[in-house]
Amino acid sequence: MALNIDCILILAKMFDKNTFDDKLFDRFLNTKATKVFLQHENSIGKNVNKDEIKAALKKIVKNTGYKDKYKFYLIKSNLNQLKTDIQYLQDHGKMIIKLALKKVYKIIPDEMRVNANIYLYSGGTDGGFTISRRDIFINYGNYIGKRKEFINILSHELYHSRNIPLTNRIRFAWKLVKERNRVIYELFGKSIEEGIACLVQHGPILESDDLTGNLTKRNLLLSKIQFDILNNVLLNIKFGMVQKYKIEDLNIYVIGYIIVSTIYSKEGVLALDEWTINLEFTRIITKYIEICNKRNIPSGFEDEVIKWVFLA
Ligand SMILES: [Zn+2]
Repeated sequence: MALNIDCILILAKMFDKNTFDDKLFDRFLNTKATKVFLQHENSIGKNVNKDEIKAALKKIVKNTGYKDKYKFYLIKSNLNQLKTDIQYLQDHGKMIIKLALKKVYKIIPDEMRVNANIYLYSGGTDGGFTISRRDIFINYGNYIGKRKEFINILSHELYHSRNIPLTNRIRFAWKLVKERNRVIYELFGKSIEEGIACLVQHGPILESDDLTGNLTKRNLLLSKIQFDILNNVLLNIKFGMVQKYKIEDLNIYVIGYIIVSTIYSKEGVLALDEWTINLEFTRIITKYIEICNKRNIPSGFEDEVIKWVFLA
């Protein structure tokens, strides 16, 4: 594994000049990181086109102080730090990956393989994303000068790229065939997947807010709101009102992190292998509720929901 920094290297060169360099722009567009970033933004409904990006980059090159919506200005306003970072990434890429993997292997079993191509890009508001459990993209604009946070987000994405046995993936996909299952499995599956990735990234106690704003101390304090939405969504499905639930409003990072960090703190990491290896979440959820009941703290789930989802 290695860090591919072509995209941010070209941006650093582009912003180092006072005039816009069309050739550098073409090279920027041709990097895999930029190509996939554009596809990713369009796939999540933010229509991004090359002309708009070109116009934004031109403005940033010409006058400092212009703030574009893609946040490319972060690269220009932190250019000196970025140049230092690039040197550091080139010299210590292997060590950075090693440190991130060390965090991943605290949570996943030793024999599980993690293998990914890692690309640094810039643009948009995501911290990073992983495609097909193989290609990792990290929005470096958010992490300029933040070495620790960069290793942390890298460990988060590396968790997503762990090598899950094929039979387990097939069994999971098979369960999604039924409509009722699909929504339930997606909700719980995504929550637990992101919850464990956040546990890898931040550890069991959130010391500083996630730079993307998904997982913050404030959001954790207000987690009851999220569990209420989840209960409502599930009850709506129960009563057949598939159109009415509002999954978009749900912060799955908060829900997942609370469930996963509660189990991890009380019982250690083994219980989480159920998801990490087998993509099974039922025992994880029931274990979480058990722990809450024992400690006399609310789990956030309504009894009716639990009975319907897990006992039916
Ligand atoms: Zn994630």
